[in-house]
Amino acid sequence: MTQYQKPLPEPSSLTQPFWDGVKQHKLLVQKCSSCSKLRHTPKPLCPHCLSQEFTWAPLSGQGQLYSYTVMHRSPAPSFDGDLPYVVALVELKEGIRMISNLVHCPLDKVRVGMPVKVVYEDVTKEASIFKFAPA
Ligand SMILES: [Zn+2]
Repeated sequence: MTQYQKPLPEPSSLTQPFWDGVKQHKLLVQKCSSCSKLRHTPKPLCPHCLSQEFTWAPLSGQGQLYSYTVMHRSPAPSFDGDLPYVVALVELKEGIRMISNLVHCPLDKVRVGMPVKVVYEDVTKEASIFKFAPA
């Protein structure tokens, strides 16, 4: 196994539970203990009711491609081998939107609205990342 060269997650105290979930192949988001609304990215208080109380709730990992762009220029040499690749905005079934790569899909098959599911890559012994693939 060659050494992973791309940026790795750098969790803060606020985002550590999210990345711990990814390591366990789960997508966890904050669920407000007061109004029950889900939120992502992690925030110290609920944007709907301002409560500071929350739990972590697992998402289905299923959703649809909300929007995307195709990268033709690499942001760093470690991405050169991936070009061209898709950066996707995915709307999960629970209404949460997340950005990552769409993988395992030829560029001419990428369509807004296509069903997608989360996939995980254990990129180092310590870190995993999430991406999306056609469902
Ligand atoms: Zn709330």
